[in-house]
Amino acid sequence: MAEILDGKELAKKVRKDLKQEVDELKQKGICPKLAVIMVGDNSSSQVYVKNKSKACVKVGIEFEEFLLQESTTEKELLELIEKLNEDETIHGILLQSPVPKHIDINRAFRTIRPDKDVDGFNPINVGNLVIGEDCFVSCTPFGVMRLLEEYHIELEGKNAVILGRSNIVGKPMVQCLLAKNATITVCHSKTQKIHEILKNADVVISAIGKPHFVTGDMIKEGSVVIDVGINRLEDGRIVGDVEFETVSPKASYITPVPGGVGPMTVAMLLANVVKAAKIQNK
Ligand code: NAP
Repeated sequence: MAEILDGKELAKKVRKDLKQEVDELKQKGICPKLAVIMVGDNSSSQVYVKNKSKACVKVGIEFEEFLLQESTTEKELLELIEKLNEDETIHGILLQSPVPKHIDINRAFRTIRPDKDVDGFNPINVGNLVIGEDCFVSCTPFGVMRLLEEYHIELEGKNAVILGRSNIVGKPMVQCLLAKNATITVCHSKTQKIHEILKNADVVISAIGKPHFVTGDMIKEGSVVIDVGINRLEDGRIVGDVEFETVSPKASYITPVPGGVGPMTVAMLLANVVKAAKIQNK
């Protein structure tokens, strides 16, 4: 039976350490602050933003929310970002996705100053991740790596299969695993015979957003299974991409949903805000 990679518990530990760092910064007159921008009233986004705000409060990070109407123009959004870029009391800027279709989200990410880009979506940070320079790493892959590290899971020489190639999870996950000398295969919606690819995987990271996609018969005995998916079923339950009941007896380690990657994503956002505050105050 797989050992559970307890993201909820580790996130608590990360927050405890961050709280101490924040207290020390405050003694030096620096109060880390995150600005979150939300455009339109997407109900999932509201839940995510609320969780982020609660987490900030727990460690003493200040939090300011900018709720813009659905009709906000791209120009207005970019002007707000520019204003926040210049505001010395704000250390991190996060634009919650999705944004309405008339806004080019990549343009907005490009406008966020790289040293305030705590989500790691500005191409400067994406590029620095690729070339192995210090940067802000997208919070979900960062959280997955922190979890693997905490449980001393060796990645060097391992076959890692990533399901999903999004800019926020799948692609940065590649760079993070590559930096640890794993050999990576990335699958997406056009990939053929995922079953066969998974049979060779020592590590499986699933980020596709399909409930119970990965089942026990698909994985190798003893593999490490990381479930990034967050899917709401019709009965209201939240499940991952992995069928926990059939996968956990075969895997060596597994993340639960909820309580696995989700809390780690938020914890790493806080870590990035603290890092941003330190960078900006040298
Ligand atoms: P996304 O942008 O929708 O990307 C989904 C990816 O999965 C795409 O690359 C897509 O392929 C691929 N895909 C879809 N169906 C597939 C299939 N049948 N077989 C193989 N690949 C398939 O999603 P995302 O933003 O990365 O999020 C993925 C999941 O993770 C969602 O459930 C989301 O809620 C969750 N999530 C969780 C956290 C967390 O903190 N735990 C953070 C972010 C996201 P194509 O590129 O070919 O379309």
